[in-house]
Amino acid sequence: MAETADIVVVGGGCIGASVALYLAQNHAGKVVLLEQKELANGASGKGIGIVRTHYTHPVLAELAYLSQQRFHNFKELYGGYDSGFNPCGYFVLVGESDVATLNTVVQMHQSMNIKVDLMDLQQVQAQIPHLNLNDVAAVAYEPHSGYGSPPQTTLAFAQRAADLGVEVLTHTPVKDIELDAAGKVQSVVTVQGAIATRTVIDCVGPWARKFTQNLGLEFPVHPVVEHVVVVQRPVEFLQNHPVVSDLVNLSYSRSDPQQPYTRIGNSDPKHHPQFMLQDADDFHGQIYPQITEELHHKLIQRYPILEKGKVVAKYSGIWGVTPDYQPIIDHLACIPGLYCAVGFSGHGYKLSPIIGELMSQFILGDRSRIDKLNLFRFSRFQEDDFIKSPITYGKAKGLR
Ligand SMILES: Cc1cc2nc3c(=O)[nH]c(=O)nc-3n(C[C@H](O)[C@H](O)[C@H](O)COP(=O)(O)OP(=O)(O)OC[C@H]3O[C@@H](n4cnc5c(N)ncnc54)[C@H](O)[C@@H]3O)c2cc1C
Repeated sequence: MAETADIVVVGGGCIGASVALYLAQNHAGKVVLLEQKELANGASGKGIGIVRTHYTHPVLAELAYLSQQRFHNFKELYGGYDSGFNPCGYFVLVGESDVATLNTVVQMHQSMNIKVDLMDLQQVQAQIPHLNLNDVAAVAYEPHSGYGSPPQTTLAFAQRAADLGVEVLTHTPVKDIELDAAGKVQSVVTVQGAIATRTVIDCVGPWARKFTQNLGLEFPVHPVVEHVVVVQRPVEFLQNHPVVSDLVNLSYSRSDPQQPYTRIGNSDPKHHPQFMLQDADDFHGQIYPQITEELHHKLIQRYPILEKGKVVAKYSGIWGVTPDYQPIIDHLACIPGLYCAVGFSGHGYKLSPIIGELMSQFILGDRSRIDKLNLFRFSRFQEDDFIKSPITYGKAKGLR
Protein backbone atom coordinates (compact mmCIF):
# COMPACT_ATOMS: atom_id res chain seq x y z
CA MET A 1 0.00 0.00 0.00
CA ALA A 2 1.23 3.50 -0.87
CA GLU A 3 2.36 5.63 2.08
CA THR A 4 1.47 8.85 0.30
CA ALA A 5 -0.98 9.79 -2.42
CA ASP A 6 -2.04 12.94 -4.21
CA ILE A 7 -5.70 11.87 -4.00
CA VAL A 8 -7.46 9.09 -2.09
CA VAL A 9 -10.93 8.03 -3.26
CA VAL A 10 -12.91 6.15 -0.60
CA GLY A 11 -15.62 3.72 -1.76
CA GLY A 12 -15.45 1.20 -4.60
CA GLY A 13 -18.96 1.57 -6.01
CA CYS A 14 -19.70 2.87 -9.51
CA ILE A 15 -19.23 6.49 -8.37
CA GLY A 16 -15.86 6.05 -6.61
CA ALA A 17 -14.51 3.86 -9.40
CA SER A 18 -15.60 6.37 -12.06
CA VAL A 19 -14.07 9.31 -10.14
CA ALA A 20 -10.77 7.39 -9.72
CA LEU A 21 -10.71 6.51 -13.41
CA TYR A 22 -11.28 10.09 -14.56
CA LEU A 23 -8.69 11.42 -12.13
CA ALA A 24 -6.14 9.02 -13.66
CA GLN A 25 -7.23 9.95 -17.16
CA ASN A 26 -6.73 13.62 -16.26
CA HIS A 27 -3.21 12.96 -14.91
CA ALA A 28 -4.04 13.79 -11.29
CA GLY A 29 -0.85 12.19 -9.94
CA LYS A 30 -0.83 9.24 -7.53
CA VAL A 31 -4.46 8.16 -6.98
CA VAL A 32 -5.53 5.40 -4.56
CA LEU A 33 -9.04 3.85 -4.51
CA LEU A 34 -9.94 2.22 -1.18
CA GLU A 35 -12.87 -0.19 -0.75
CA GLN A 36 -13.79 -1.77 2.59
CA LYS A 37 -14.90 -5.10 1.07
CA GLU A 38 -15.13 -6.15 -2.60
CA LEU A 39 -15.75 -3.63 -5.38
CA ALA A 40 -19.51 -3.01 -5.88
CA ASN A 41 -20.18 -4.13 -2.31
CA GLY A 42 -22.96 -1.55 -1.78
CA ALA A 43 -25.77 -0.20 -3.97
CA SER A 44 -23.74 -0.82 -7.12
CA GLY A 45 -23.77 -4.56 -6.48
CA LYS A 46 -27.55 -4.86 -6.54
CA GLY A 47 -28.84 -2.09 -8.81
CA ILE A 48 -31.21 -2.91 -11.68
CA GLY A 49 -29.08 -0.65 -13.86
CA ILE A 50 -31.64 1.37 -15.80
CA VAL A 51 -30.09 4.05 -17.99
CA ARG A 52 -32.66 6.67 -19.03
CA THR A 53 -32.89 10.42 -19.42
CA HIS A 54 -36.47 10.91 -18.21
CA TYR A 55 -36.12 13.55 -15.49
CA THR A 56 -38.39 16.48 -14.72
CA HIS A 57 -35.39 18.60 -13.68
CA PRO A 58 -33.42 19.91 -16.69
CA VAL A 59 -30.00 19.56 -15.02
CA LEU A 60 -30.64 15.92 -14.17
CA ALA A 61 -31.96 15.27 -17.67
CA GLU A 62 -28.82 16.82 -19.15
CA LEU A 63 -26.48 14.84 -16.89
CA ALA A 64 -28.39 11.65 -17.68
CA TYR A 65 -28.14 12.43 -21.40
CA LEU A 66 -24.38 13.02 -21.20
CA SER A 67 -23.99 9.77 -19.27
CA GLN A 68 -26.13 7.86 -21.74
CA GLN A 69 -23.78 8.95 -24.55
CA ARG A 70 -20.86 7.56 -22.54
CA PHE A 71 -22.66 4.24 -22.04
CA HIS A 72 -23.15 4.02 -25.81
CA ASN A 73 -19.39 4.52 -26.36
CA PHE A 74 -18.25 2.70 -23.26
CA LYS A 75 -15.67 0.36 -24.80
CA GLU A 76 -14.05 3.10 -26.89
CA LEU A 77 -13.89 5.48 -23.94
CA TYR A 78 -12.80 3.06 -21.23
CA GLY A 79 -10.06 0.81 -22.59
CA GLY A 80 -12.25 -1.84 -24.23
CA TYR A 81 -14.08 -2.90 -21.06
CA ASP A 82 -17.78 -3.74 -21.23
CA SER A 83 -20.48 -2.23 -18.99
CA GLY A 84 -23.15 -4.74 -20.03
CA PHE A 85 -25.13 -1.85 -21.52
CA ASN A 86 -28.12 -2.92 -23.61
CA PRO A 87 -29.89 -0.01 -25.37
CA CYS A 88 -33.16 -1.95 -25.59
CA GLY A 89 -35.39 1.15 -25.33
CA TYR A 90 -37.33 2.68 -22.44
CA PHE A 91 -41.05 3.41 -22.03
CA VAL A 92 -42.63 5.76 -19.49
CA LEU A 93 -46.29 5.00 -18.76
CA VAL A 94 -48.54 7.59 -17.11
CA GLY A 95 -52.19 7.79 -16.06
CA GLU A 96 -54.69 10.49 -16.99
CA SER A 97 -53.63 12.91 -14.23
CA ASP A 98 -49.98 12.94 -15.38
CA VAL A 99 -50.47 13.41 -19.14
CA ALA A 100 -49.79 17.15 -19.08
CA THR A 101 -46.56 16.61 -17.08
CA LEU A 102 -45.40 13.92 -19.49
CA ASN A 103 -46.04 16.20 -22.48
CA THR A 104 -44.09 19.04 -20.85
CA VAL A 105 -41.15 16.77 -19.97
CA VAL A 106 -41.02 15.33 -23.49
CA GLN A 107 -41.02 18.84 -25.01
CA MET A 108 -38.29 19.95 -22.63
CA HIS A 109 -36.17 16.90 -23.53
CA GLN A 110 -36.70 17.38 -27.25
CA SER A 111 -35.53 20.99 -26.90
CA MET A 112 -32.34 19.57 -25.34
CA ASN A 113 -31.82 17.21 -28.32
CA ILE A 114 -32.69 14.15 -26.27
CA LYS A 115 -34.27 11.49 -28.49
CA VAL A 116 -37.74 10.89 -27.06
CA ASP A 117 -41.20 10.67 -28.58
CA LEU A 118 -44.77 10.31 -27.46
CA MET A 119 -46.22 7.03 -28.71
CA ASP A 120 -49.81 6.07 -29.17
CA LEU A 121 -51.01 3.06 -27.25
CA GLN A 122 -51.37 0.87 -30.35
CA GLN A 123 -47.71 1.41 -31.21
CA VAL A 124 -46.71 0.47 -27.67
CA GLN A 125 -48.90 -2.62 -27.76
CA ALA A 126 -47.25 -3.67 -31.03
CA GLN A 127 -43.80 -3.46 -29.40
CA ILE A 128 -44.79 -5.22 -26.17
CA PRO A 129 -47.86 -7.38 -26.92
CA HIS A 130 -48.26 -8.64 -23.34
CA LEU A 131 -48.31 -5.21 -21.70
CA ASN A 132 -51.63 -4.28 -20.08
CA LEU A 133 -52.37 -0.65 -20.98
CA ASN A 134 -55.91 -0.46 -19.53
CA ASP A 135 -55.03 2.20 -16.95
CA VAL A 136 -52.42 3.99 -19.09
CA ALA A 137 -53.29 7.31 -20.72
CA ALA A 138 -50.00 8.30 -22.41
CA VAL A 139 -46.57 6.86 -23.14
CA ALA A 140 -43.16 8.32 -23.97
CA TYR A 141 -40.41 6.28 -25.59
CA GLU A 142 -36.64 6.76 -25.43
CA PRO A 143 -35.09 4.51 -28.09
CA HIS A 144 -31.50 5.11 -26.91
CA SER A 145 -32.08 4.18 -23.28
CA GLY A 146 -31.96 0.73 -21.71
CA TYR A 147 -30.05 -0.90 -18.89
CA GLY A 148 -26.53 -2.00 -17.99
CA SER A 149 -24.89 -4.08 -15.28
CA PRO A 150 -23.87 -1.92 -12.29
CA PRO A 151 -21.36 -4.46 -10.85
CA GLN A 152 -19.81 -5.07 -14.27
CA THR A 153 -19.60 -1.33 -14.93
CA THR A 154 -17.99 -0.73 -11.53
CA LEU A 155 -15.36 -3.39 -12.25
CA ALA A 156 -14.80 -1.93 -15.72
CA PHE A 157 -14.17 1.56 -14.30
CA ALA A 158 -11.85 0.14 -11.62
CA GLN A 159 -9.92 -2.04 -14.06
CA ARG A 160 -9.45 0.85 -16.46
CA ALA A 161 -8.40 3.06 -13.53
CA ALA A 162 -5.84 0.41 -12.48
CA ASP A 163 -4.53 0.21 -16.08
CA LEU A 164 -3.97 3.97 -15.90
CA GLY A 165 -2.00 3.67 -12.66
CA VAL A 166 -4.59 3.92 -9.87
CA GLU A 167 -3.78 1.69 -6.88
CA VAL A 168 -7.07 -0.13 -6.23
CA LEU A 169 -7.19 -1.71 -2.77
CA THR A 170 -10.12 -3.86 -1.67
CA HIS A 171 -10.68 -5.10 1.91
CA THR A 172 -9.18 -1.83 3.08
CA PRO A 173 -11.74 0.07 5.15
CA VAL A 174 -10.94 3.66 5.98
CA LYS A 175 -11.25 4.12 9.73
CA ASP A 176 -10.56 7.82 9.98
CA ILE A 177 -9.54 10.99 8.17
CA GLU A 178 -6.86 12.88 10.09
CA LEU A 179 -6.60 16.66 9.96
CA ASP A 180 -3.58 18.88 10.56
CA ALA A 181 -3.45 21.74 13.08
CA ALA A 182 -5.13 24.05 10.56
CA GLY A 183 -8.03 21.60 10.11
CA LYS A 184 -6.97 20.48 6.62
CA VAL A 185 -6.95 16.87 5.43
CA GLN A 186 -3.60 15.28 6.31
CA SER A 187 -4.08 11.51 5.95
CA VAL A 188 -6.51 8.63 5.79
CA VAL A 189 -6.18 5.87 8.34
CA THR A 190 -6.91 2.35 7.11
CA VAL A 191 -6.70 -1.02 8.81
CA GLN A 192 -3.39 -1.49 7.02
CA GLY A 193 -1.88 1.84 8.04
CA ALA A 194 -2.11 5.49 7.09
CA ILE A 195 -1.78 7.16 3.70
CA ALA A 196 -0.60 10.77 3.81
CA THR A 197 -2.67 12.86 1.43
CA ARG A 198 -4.10 16.37 1.10
CA THR A 199 -7.18 15.31 -0.90
CA VAL A 200 -9.87 12.76 -0.04
CA ILE A 201 -13.00 12.05 -2.09
CA ASP A 202 -15.83 10.55 -0.04
CA CYS A 203 -17.77 8.17 -2.32
CA VAL A 204 -19.10 5.82 0.37
CA GLY A 205 -22.74 5.91 -0.80
CA PRO A 206 -25.18 4.72 1.91
CA TRP A 207 -22.39 4.78 4.52
CA ALA A 208 -22.05 8.59 4.19
CA ARG A 209 -23.63 9.57 7.50
CA LYS A 210 -21.42 7.27 9.53
CA PHE A 211 -18.21 7.91 7.59
CA THR A 212 -17.63 11.54 8.57
CA GLN A 213 -19.47 11.55 11.90
CA ASN A 214 -16.31 11.87 13.98
CA LEU A 215 -15.31 14.92 11.92
CA GLY A 216 -18.55 16.55 13.04
CA LEU A 217 -20.03 16.31 9.55
CA GLU A 218 -23.46 14.71 9.52
CA PHE A 219 -24.58 13.92 5.98
CA PRO A 220 -28.37 13.66 5.55
CA VAL A 221 -27.96 10.34 3.70
CA HIS A 222 -30.20 7.52 4.90
CA PRO A 223 -29.66 3.88 3.97
CA VAL A 224 -32.88 2.46 2.54
CA VAL A 225 -33.49 -1.20 1.64
CA GLU A 226 -34.66 -1.52 -1.95
CA HIS A 227 -36.28 -4.73 -3.20
CA VAL A 228 -36.28 -6.62 -6.50
CA VAL A 229 -38.45 -9.55 -7.62
CA VAL A 230 -37.43 -11.70 -10.60
CA VAL A 231 -39.98 -13.72 -12.56
CA GLN A 232 -39.32 -16.29 -15.28
CA ARG A 233 -41.45 -15.49 -18.33
CA PRO A 234 -43.55 -18.36 -19.68
CA VAL A 235 -43.05 -19.85 -23.19
CA GLU A 236 -45.66 -17.50 -24.69
CA PHE A 237 -43.48 -14.53 -23.68
CA LEU A 238 -39.87 -15.56 -24.22
CA GLN A 239 -38.83 -12.51 -26.19
CA ASN A 240 -36.96 -9.78 -24.30
CA HIS A 241 -38.89 -6.55 -23.76
CA PRO A 242 -37.78 -2.92 -23.30
CA VAL A 243 -37.49 -1.20 -19.92
CA VAL A 244 -40.82 0.03 -18.56
CA SER A 245 -41.06 2.85 -16.05
CA ASP A 246 -44.55 2.59 -14.68
CA LEU A 247 -45.68 5.88 -13.14
CA VAL A 248 -49.22 4.51 -12.75
CA ASN A 249 -48.42 1.69 -10.34
CA LEU A 250 -45.03 3.12 -9.30
CA SER A 251 -42.56 0.45 -10.34
CA TYR A 252 -39.93 -0.18 -12.99
CA SER A 253 -39.15 -3.39 -14.82
CA ARG A 254 -36.80 -4.80 -17.40
CA SER A 255 -35.88 -8.12 -18.97
CA ASP A 256 -32.53 -9.89 -18.44
CA PRO A 257 -29.95 -10.30 -21.20
CA GLN A 258 -29.36 -14.08 -21.10
CA GLN A 259 -32.46 -15.63 -19.49
CA PRO A 260 -36.22 -15.11 -20.09
CA TYR A 261 -36.47 -13.26 -16.79
CA THR A 262 -38.20 -9.97 -15.95
CA ARG A 263 -37.19 -8.05 -12.85
CA ILE A 264 -39.24 -5.38 -11.10
CA GLY A 265 -38.31 -2.75 -8.50
CA ASN A 266 -40.26 -0.22 -6.46
CA SER A 267 -40.61 3.48 -7.22
CA ASP A 268 -43.25 4.33 -4.64
CA PRO A 269 -41.67 6.88 -2.27
CA LYS A 270 -44.21 6.08 0.45
CA HIS A 271 -42.33 2.83 1.15
CA HIS A 272 -38.95 4.42 1.77
CA PRO A 273 -39.44 5.47 5.42
CA GLN A 274 -40.54 1.89 6.20
CA PHE A 275 -37.33 0.39 4.88
CA MET A 276 -34.88 2.95 6.26
CA LEU A 277 -31.99 1.62 8.36
CA GLN A 278 -30.12 3.40 11.13
CA ASP A 279 -26.78 2.38 9.69
CA ALA A 280 -25.72 0.85 6.35
CA ASP A 281 -23.89 -1.86 8.34
CA ASP A 282 -27.33 -3.04 9.56
CA PHE A 283 -28.02 -4.28 6.03
CA HIS A 284 -27.59 -8.05 5.68
CA GLY A 285 -29.72 -8.72 2.61
CA GLN A 286 -32.96 -8.68 4.62
CA ILE A 287 -36.24 -8.86 2.71
CA TYR A 288 -39.58 -7.42 3.78
CA PRO A 289 -42.20 -9.83 2.37
CA GLN A 290 -45.01 -7.27 2.14
CA ILE A 291 -43.12 -5.28 -0.49
CA THR A 292 -41.96 -8.27 -2.54
CA GLU A 293 -45.56 -9.49 -2.67
CA GLU A 294 -46.70 -6.03 -3.72
CA LEU A 295 -44.06 -5.88 -6.48
CA HIS A 296 -45.03 -9.33 -7.76
CA HIS A 297 -48.66 -8.22 -7.84
CA LYS A 298 -47.77 -5.02 -9.74
CA LEU A 299 -45.80 -7.02 -12.30
CA ILE A 300 -48.76 -9.32 -12.95
CA GLN A 301 -51.09 -6.35 -13.14
CA ARG A 302 -48.88 -4.83 -15.86
CA TYR A 303 -48.08 -8.16 -17.60
CA PRO A 304 -51.06 -10.47 -16.84
CA ILE A 305 -49.36 -13.36 -18.64
CA LEU A 306 -46.70 -13.39 -15.92
CA GLU A 307 -49.23 -14.94 -13.58
CA LYS A 308 -48.00 -18.15 -15.21
CA GLY A 309 -44.36 -17.23 -14.52
CA LYS A 310 -42.32 -18.63 -11.66
CA VAL A 311 -40.73 -16.28 -9.12
CA VAL A 312 -37.04 -17.22 -9.45
CA ALA A 313 -35.54 -14.66 -7.05
CA LYS A 314 -36.35 -12.00 -4.49
CA TYR A 315 -33.50 -9.91 -3.18
CA SER A 316 -32.66 -6.52 -1.76
CA GLY A 317 -29.89 -3.95 -1.83
CA ILE A 318 -29.36 -0.60 -0.11
CA TRP A 319 -29.20 2.85 -1.56
CA GLY A 320 -28.32 6.12 0.16
CA VAL A 321 -31.29 8.51 0.06
CA THR A 322 -31.19 12.25 0.76
CA PRO A 323 -34.23 14.40 1.74
CA ASP A 324 -34.70 15.56 -1.88
CA TYR A 325 -33.59 12.28 -3.50
CA GLN A 326 -30.63 14.03 -5.13
CA PRO A 327 -26.91 13.53 -4.53
CA ILE A 328 -24.54 15.68 -2.52
CA ILE A 329 -21.55 16.64 -4.67
CA ASP A 330 -19.28 19.22 -3.15
CA HIS A 331 -16.04 20.41 -1.67
CA LEU A 332 -16.56 20.58 2.10
CA ALA A 333 -15.34 24.09 2.86
CA CYS A 334 -15.12 23.38 6.61
CA ILE A 335 -12.51 20.65 5.95
CA PRO A 336 -10.16 21.79 3.18
CA GLY A 337 -9.17 18.83 1.03
CA LEU A 338 -12.38 16.84 1.59
CA TYR A 339 -14.76 16.33 -1.34
CA CYS A 340 -17.91 14.21 -1.54
CA ALA A 341 -20.14 12.53 -4.12
CA VAL A 342 -22.71 10.59 -2.11
CA GLY A 343 -26.46 10.05 -1.68
CA PHE A 344 -27.29 9.19 -5.28
CA SER A 345 -30.57 7.52 -4.31
CA GLY A 346 -31.93 5.73 -7.40
CA HIS A 347 -29.87 7.65 -9.97
CA GLY A 348 -26.25 6.76 -9.23
CA TYR A 349 -25.68 4.10 -11.83
CA LYS A 350 -27.00 6.00 -14.83
CA LEU A 351 -25.10 9.14 -13.79
CA SER A 352 -21.82 7.46 -12.89
CA PRO A 353 -19.81 8.16 -16.08
CA ILE A 354 -20.56 11.89 -16.17
CA ILE A 355 -20.20 12.32 -12.41
CA GLY A 356 -16.69 10.82 -12.53
CA GLU A 357 -15.80 13.20 -15.33
CA LEU A 358 -17.25 16.36 -13.73
CA MET A 359 -15.98 15.47 -10.28
CA SER A 360 -12.41 15.01 -11.50
CA GLN A 361 -12.57 18.40 -13.28
CA PHE A 362 -13.94 19.98 -10.10
CA ILE A 363 -11.14 18.51 -7.98
CA LEU A 364 -8.45 19.45 -10.48
CA GLY A 365 -9.69 23.03 -10.57
CA ASP A 366 -11.17 23.13 -14.09
CA ARG A 367 -14.26 25.25 -13.44
CA SER A 368 -15.38 25.49 -17.07
CA ARG A 369 -18.09 22.78 -16.98
CA ILE A 370 -18.99 22.45 -13.34
CA ASP A 371 -21.62 25.12 -12.74
CA LYS A 372 -24.24 22.40 -12.75
CA LEU A 373 -22.69 20.77 -9.71
CA ASN A 374 -23.63 23.78 -7.56
CA LEU A 375 -27.19 22.45 -7.57
CA PHE A 376 -25.97 19.47 -5.52
CA ARG A 377 -24.09 21.46 -2.86
CA PHE A 378 -24.12 20.19 0.73
CA SER A 379 -25.34 23.51 2.15
CA ARG A 380 -28.70 23.32 0.35
CA PHE A 381 -30.10 21.38 3.30
CA GLN A 382 -29.11 24.08 5.81
CA GLU A 383 -30.37 26.76 3.41
CA ASP A 384 -33.70 24.93 3.10
CA ASP A 385 -33.16 25.10 -0.65
CA PHE A 386 -33.94 21.51 -1.62
CA ILE A 387 -33.74 20.56 -5.28
CA LYS A 388 -37.21 20.86 -6.76
CA SER A 389 -38.30 20.22 -10.31
CA PRO A 390 -40.29 22.89 -12.14
CA ILE A 391 -42.95 20.20 -12.75
CA THR A 392 -43.68 16.95 -10.92
CA TYR A 393 -45.57 13.74 -11.40
CA GLY A 394 -48.50 13.23 -9.03
CA LYS A 395 -47.35 10.09 -7.23
CA ALA A 396 -43.68 9.56 -8.18
CA LYS A 397 -42.77 13.09 -6.96
CA GLY A 398 -39.05 13.72 -6.36
CA LEU A 399 -38.09 10.31 -7.70
CA ARG A 400 -38.52 11.63 -11.22
C1 LIG B 1 -32.28 -2.54 -6.03
C2 LIG B 1 -31.66 -1.29 -6.60
C3 LIG B 1 -32.05 -0.84 -7.85
C4 LIG B 1 -31.46 0.30 -8.40
N1 LIG B 1 -31.79 0.66 -9.68
C5 LIG B 1 -31.13 1.70 -10.26
C6 LIG B 1 -31.37 2.02 -11.62
O1 LIG B 1 -32.17 1.36 -12.28
N2 LIG B 1 -30.66 3.04 -12.18
C7 LIG B 1 -29.79 3.80 -11.45
O2 LIG B 1 -29.19 4.74 -11.98
N3 LIG B 1 -29.56 3.52 -10.15
C8 LIG B 1 -30.20 2.50 -9.54
N4 LIG B 1 -29.97 2.20 -8.24
C9 LIG B 1 -29.13 3.11 -7.46
C10 LIG B 1 -27.66 2.92 -7.75
O3 LIG B 1 -27.34 1.54 -7.68
C11 LIG B 1 -26.85 3.73 -6.76
O4 LIG B 1 -27.26 5.10 -6.80
C12 LIG B 1 -25.36 3.67 -7.08
O5 LIG B 1 -24.92 2.33 -7.18
C13 LIG B 1 -24.58 4.39 -5.98
O6 LIG B 1 -23.21 4.14 -6.18
P1 LIG B 1 -22.15 4.63 -5.11
O7 LIG B 1 -20.82 4.31 -5.66
O8 LIG B 1 -22.46 6.03 -4.71
O9 LIG B 1 -22.47 3.77 -3.78
P2 LIG B 1 -22.18 2.24 -3.46
O10 LIG B 1 -22.30 1.39 -4.65
O11 LIG B 1 -23.00 1.89 -2.27
O12 LIG B 1 -20.65 2.25 -3.07
C14 LIG B 1 -20.17 2.74 -1.85
C15 LIG B 1 -18.98 1.87 -1.48
O13 LIG B 1 -18.29 2.46 -0.37
C16 LIG B 1 -17.76 1.41 0.40
N5 LIG B 1 -17.42 1.93 1.73
C17 LIG B 1 -18.28 2.37 2.68
N6 LIG B 1 -17.60 2.79 3.76
C18 LIG B 1 -16.28 2.61 3.50
C19 LIG B 1 -15.07 2.84 4.23
N7 LIG B 1 -15.09 3.34 5.47
N8 LIG B 1 -13.89 2.52 3.65
C20 LIG B 1 -13.84 2.02 2.39
N9 LIG B 1 -14.96 1.76 1.66
C21 LIG B 1 -16.16 2.07 2.20
C22 LIG B 1 -18.89 0.39 0.41
O14 LIG B 1 -18.43 -0.90 0.76
C23 LIG B 1 -19.40 0.47 -1.03
O15 LIG B 1 -18.79 -0.49 -1.87
C24 LIG B 1 -30.50 1.04 -7.66
C25 LIG B 1 -30.11 0.59 -6.40
C26 LIG B 1 -30.67 -0.57 -5.88
C27 LIG B 1 -30.21 -1.05 -4.53
